[in-house]
Amino acid sequence: MTSDIKRTIVVTGGSKGIGRAICKTFAAPGVTIYFNFNSPQTTGQETEEEIFEAGGIARGMRVDVSSEAEVTNFFNTIIDDTGRIDVLVNNAGIAKDALLLRMKEQDWDDVIRVNLKGTFNCTKAAAKTMLKQRYGRIINIASIAGVAGNPGQANYAASKAGIIGLTKTVARELGSRGITANAIAPGFIQTDMTAGLSEKALSDILSQIPLGRNGTPEDIAGVALFLASKSADYITGQVIHVNGGMYI
Ligand code: NAP
Repeated sequence: MTSDIKRTIVVTGGSKGIGRAICKTFAAPGVTIYFNFNSPQTTGQETEEEIFEAGGIARGMRVDVSSEAEVTNFFNTIIDDTGRIDVLVNNAGIAKDALLLRMKEQDWDDVIRVNLKGTFNCTKAAAKTMLKQRYGRIINIASIAGVAGNPGQANYAASKAGIIGLTKTVARELGSRGITANAIAPGFIQTDMTAGLSEKALSDILSQIPLGRNGTPEDIAGVALFLASKSADYITGQVIHVNGGMYI
């Protein structure tokens, strides 16, 4: 991490995949990284170890981003400990795929609740502190699906399109107080979320990527670090596409 990043970083869904890579990329001496996760069996230990190895301070907690009460407690803990929030990365997300006519109401509700409401809950909680500081960097992990749509992902694509609308609104509401809000729209990134796809589906996806490879969590983490850096101070309300050319 470059020295122009300030001290307290919050990453939702930091136990694995893209969120874990973001935690590792931001980790550095003088930086405290709070991350959360949701599954009862998750400990966050690997992420904590990677942050410590890079010289940072790590705090991993089980916090369901879709619960306003749990999110409020999480951010109160952060403020009690450090007194500030410099960067919020809204990364936690789930997918429950089905074609429209087979999609259950519960699967629609779950994905919207975690992905979209979770991003709203954390942004609102962090914004209170960022407004007082007159500084903050909000980075929301959207998706190519939220821009282009994707068969079988009506719930997921709608949640990610919603995140883009939320990002642009937050950028307009909070820009005058030194707070930027941007979204990253990853293409196909190799993580647990995409691990269940068939060989055929994988090769179909690969054939649509001009750069000829799938993305890695580090491809996304590097862009998040840039958006939190001084070099990105004049960027707000934007959607940065990181997809190997899959959507142009
Ligand atoms: P992943 O490997 O499945 O990791 C998801 C993370 O979110 C985990 O840390 C998980 O915690 C956490 N999480 C899930 N529900 C949560 C909740 N209710 N509260 C708090 N944390 C919760 O997924 P990923 O591929 O890294 O995806 C990260 C983000 O990138 C998501 O927003 C996803 O939609 C987006 N994205 C991914 C791709 C891709 O191709 N992989 C493409 C575009 C966008 P547990 O460990 O406890 O489960």
